[in-house]
Amino acid sequence: MEITPDATALVVDDEQDIRDACERILTRAGLRVLKASRGDEALSVLAKENVDIVLLDLKMPGMDGLEVLSRISAKYRKIQVIVITGYATVETAIEAMKQGAYDFIAKPFDPDQLRIVVRRAWEKIRLTREAEELERKRQRTLSDLDTEKSRIRTIIESFPSGVVVTDPKGRVVLMNPAFRQLLGLNPDLNAGRRIEDYLPDEKLCNLVMEISRGKHVDFDDIPDYEFSLSDEKHFLASGQPVLGERKECLGAVLNIVDITAMKLLDQLKSEFVAKVSHELRSPLSTIHEQLAMVIKDMVGDDFAQDQHILARAREKTRGLISLIGDLLDLSRIEEGIICQELQSVRLEELLENIVDFLSTSAKKKTQFLALDLPENPLPVLTADPIALESIFGNLITNAINYTQDGGEIKVAVDMAGINVRVSVRDNGFGIADKYLDKIFERFYRVQDEKTRYITGTGLGLPIVKGLLDSIGGFISVESTFDKGSLFTVLLPVKSQAIVKNNPSF
Ligand code: ADP
Repeated sequence: MEITPDATALVVDDEQDIRDACERILTRAGLRVLKASRGDEALSVLAKENVDIVLLDLKMPGMDGLEVLSRISAKYRKIQVIVITGYATVETAIEAMKQGAYDFIAKPFDPDQLRIVVRRAWEKIRLTREAEELERKRQRTLSDLDTEKSRIRTIIESFPSGVVVTDPKGRVVLMNPAFRQLLGLNPDLNAGRRIEDYLPDEKLCNLVMEISRGKHVDFDDIPDYEFSLSDEKHFLASGQPVLGERKECLGAVLNIVDITAMKLLDQLKSEFVAKVSHELRSPLSTIHEQLAMVIKDMVGDDFAQDQHILARAREKTRGLISLIGDLLDLSRIEEGIICQELQSVRLEELLENIVDFLSTSAKKKTQFLALDLPENPLPVLTADPIALESIFGNLITNAINYTQDGGEIKVAVDMAGINVRVSVRDNGFGIADKYLDKIFERFYRVQDEKTRYITGTGLGLPIVKGLLDSIGGFISVESTFDKGSLFTVLLPVKSQAIVKNNPSF
């Protein structure tokens, strides 16, 4: 009938028989037992030892039991005192209980009675300890939570970019000082209102509303968004849903970064490129033409070698002129000054002409180039035909260039909802995954064993993307290295009007 191996009891009684009997019984029950025959002796034991339960005789010579009890109660509040008393002194025992003793046992007692009362006392100690431990844990969790909360708040507050959090209804629940400062918000404007009271851009507000309502569960499909304030400040906003434990949408978090300096740099760079290209174009074109004339005038075997060298020089000037043409196109697109001549365009016809024109290049590589048109006529597009020619010319030329001799290039057209979809598929070199998001960057060219020797500028796809962005179109690419690529273009039936300041490029 073990109580606990850890508990220590102190038996305080002037009768040796009682002390010894208690020791025997309690040791057998698993307790460590200490003994004292007088009150003062008991107090000095308590000063040295860790005791849980004291069995205290009230009638002892020297210091009175009640006096010992009051000292124990005052100094060792966790010790449970069981008073041992004779029949004649039940009243004293009751008095002792009033003074803080936990229980009492009357002499003479049998072993079971002693064990029961000691076990009860131990149970009380155990429960008290458990309750204390629980309380300690609760305090710790609360203070952890408190620290965590204030830590997160401090991080958000001191975040250098603007952060704003909305609830599922699109109401602002939190914003940091950087957000206020970037958007120049009135200091009196507190959280709690709808997002449009804080953000000046309608499309961005709509995006935040969509994210807040949980429309975008796939994190990757949320586009970054650029917007400007009237004072020539430019920002990049990226939003994500805030998900709860069960993946339910609790709102949106939007991060806003000031990209004015980057934009300015970009603009300076474009201006520089445009200027240099302009300056280079006319002398180069003159050299190109002069070379043509010299080559034409060179007849006879004596000149064969020179003619070959000059022909190669002319080839190089042609390449340079085309690079300059691309650079100028790109600068114009970047500045939003592409003069789009919106006209009615029959896409079938436009594509037939391009495919026809490029079939000479495909034939040279013994490639099969085919155009697959839908049975039903496509709607007539309102678009700039030059922009469309540039888009599909670039994509089909790429397919020819990056496909081995004897390969296949298929151009197909169909409707995808309200958009016209044009896909250019080849079974050529393909593009490894790691390059896929880079190929739309300016001057980016994949340099691998197969593409290294193919000449190009790395400007074709940026031009395609820039043009599509400006007319409200979309391009995506799927590709498998060594198997082939599929470029898919979505065109709006009615292109947007001329964009003066193309924000997404
Ligand atoms: P360029 O063709 O002048 O190098 P682009 O911007 O048109 O520049 O293309 C960028 C890069 O993307 C190319 O260098 C090439 O590595 C890759 N690429 C484009 N189209 C294809 C294609 N159809 N198949 C394989 N790689 C392609």
